[in-house]
This record gives sequence, structure tokens and C-alpha cells, in this order.
Amino acid sequence: KPIIIVVVGMAGSGKTTFLHRLVCHTKASNIRGYVMNLDPAVMTLPFGANIDIRDTVRYKEVMKQFNLGPNGGILTSLNLFSTKFDEVISMIERRADELDYVLVDTPGQIEIFTWSASGAIITEAFASTFPTVIAYVVDTPRSESPATFMSNMLYACSILYKTRLPLVLAFNKTDVAQHEFALEWMKDFGVFHAALDSDHSYTSTLTRSLSLALEDFYKNLRSVGVSAVTGAGMDAFFKAVEASAEEYMETYRTDLEKRR
Ligand code: GDP
Ligand code: MG
Repeated sequence: KPIIIVVVGMAGSGKTTFLHRLVCHTKASNIRGYVMNLDPAVMTLPFGANIDIRDTVRYKEVMKQFNLGPNGGILTSLNLFSTKFDEVISMIERRADELDYVLVDTPGQIEIFTWSASGAIITEAFASTFPTVIAYVVDTPRSESPATFMSNMLYACSILYKTRLPLVLAFNKTDVAQHEFALEWMKDFGVFHAALDSDHSYTSTLTRSLSLALEDFYKNLRSVGVSAVTGAGMDAFFKAVEASAEEYMETYRTDLEKRR
């Protein structure tokens, strides 16, 4: 069975570019990948998608027909697509023997996928059939500020809670800024506190307390530094995905069966 990699992250973190990199890497390494685009509003994709939401729903038409703005249009398109998602799952199941990975790109605005009914339907449809891993893409240069780093981690944490799936943090854009500082901050809250040291504002105090609360979250994560542009970190990323898929089998799968 293929492993599903659902790529999520803040708008502009580099999801689409990262997915393109994953596609290049799989092709070059003789890994069999199947590519899915769930962003109805993307104008041009740098990769060829085997399944593309834009073939089924026309986002501009949906906006006109239901008199919606851009975000409403994306959400409604995703809702329409999710009603047919069982067909998508069967299509992948028919090809299961020929595939190693299914690579999934999600809409630019993260909350449209992670906080919508259709996003939950799609994620659960994947996870109830295949080993599924969430790749949370982080804009590393933008996370060098402790407050931005914290809000990004809180978001990743909320996704872990919501999906209950194994999560890989992909610190992207390491060609611009190395991600070692982030690893340090996650490993040792003393270092993180030191980065906040000169700041005694309310948010800074809160950020300090939150870093203590997130310790367990950090421990249960896999983090890798990648660059979607240069291709650095791809082997480490796939290793983390493999380990996460094993974790899915050991914990999430049995958890899922219990909940049924
Ligand atoms: P998305 O909204 O998350 O899908 O982000 P995109 O893939 O569209 O990328 C947003 C911007 O970040 C684009 O200008 C990309 O060229 C840039 N970008 C993405 N990945 C990298 C990277 O690894 N390094 C650098 N330097 N820029 C990147
Ligand atoms: Mg994108």
C-alpha cells in the first residue's frame, strides 16, 4: 500500500514548490509516486498532477454561481470535491500495488483545509484506508522570530490534535536560513527563553510558558530541514516519512479501530 503524504503549511511556506521537489525526487530515485492537487485556485502547477481538483470543479464558476469571495469559493469547491472522494480513494486502491507514495498538495490558505468539514472528510478518508502522514511545511527564515516560531508550532500542534496523524515538520527554505536554531529551541527551552530574554511584554511571557507546554509535542515529532528550491534534505524527509508510517501502523491504526 502507498503512503499518503498530505502537505500542509501557512500560505507562502512553500507547499507547492516542496511538492514539486518531492515529485522530482521520486522520479529521479525510481520511487513510484501519484500526485494530487487539492488547491482549486492555483493558476499553474509546476508539476503534473494525476488527480487535480481543477478537473472536477471550476473555482471561478463556483464563485459566480454561489456569489462567493475567493476563500468561500475555495472552501465550496473543496466541499463539492469531498462528496466524490470515495471515488478518489477507489482509484488509488486500484493502483495500490503500483504505488509507493501519494503526494497531496492542499490550498494555499491553511485553515481552508485544516479547519473545514471537507478537509476532515478527505484526511479521514485517506487515513482510514492508507498509512497517512502530515508534512507540515514551515517557512524557516520567517520563523527566526520567536513569536512567529511559536504561532507556527501552535498551529502544527492543533493539526496533530485534530487529525491524530503522525506529523513531520519540514523546515523549508534552508537555502536562505538554516533550521538548527529551531531544533535547538525545541530541544532546550532555555535556549528559546534566552532568545526572548530582552523582551518582557505580555506576549513574550506567554510565549515562554507555551514553550514549556509544547515540550511533549516537540518530543513526539520528527523534524527535518529541507529546501524545495535546491532539493536539500530529501533523503532525510523520506526517512522521517517512513518512520512516521510505521508509527501510524503501530498507534494510529489501532486507535482508529478502537474508535470504530
Ligand atoms: P505555498 O503557498 O505554500 O504553496 O507556497 P509556494 O510553493 O507557492 O511558494 C511560495 C514562495 O516561496 C515562492 O516564491 C517560492 O519560490 C518560495 N519558495 C518555496 N520553497 C522555497 C525554498 O526552499 N527556498 C526559497 N529560497 N524559496 C522558496
Ligand atoms: Mg500552493
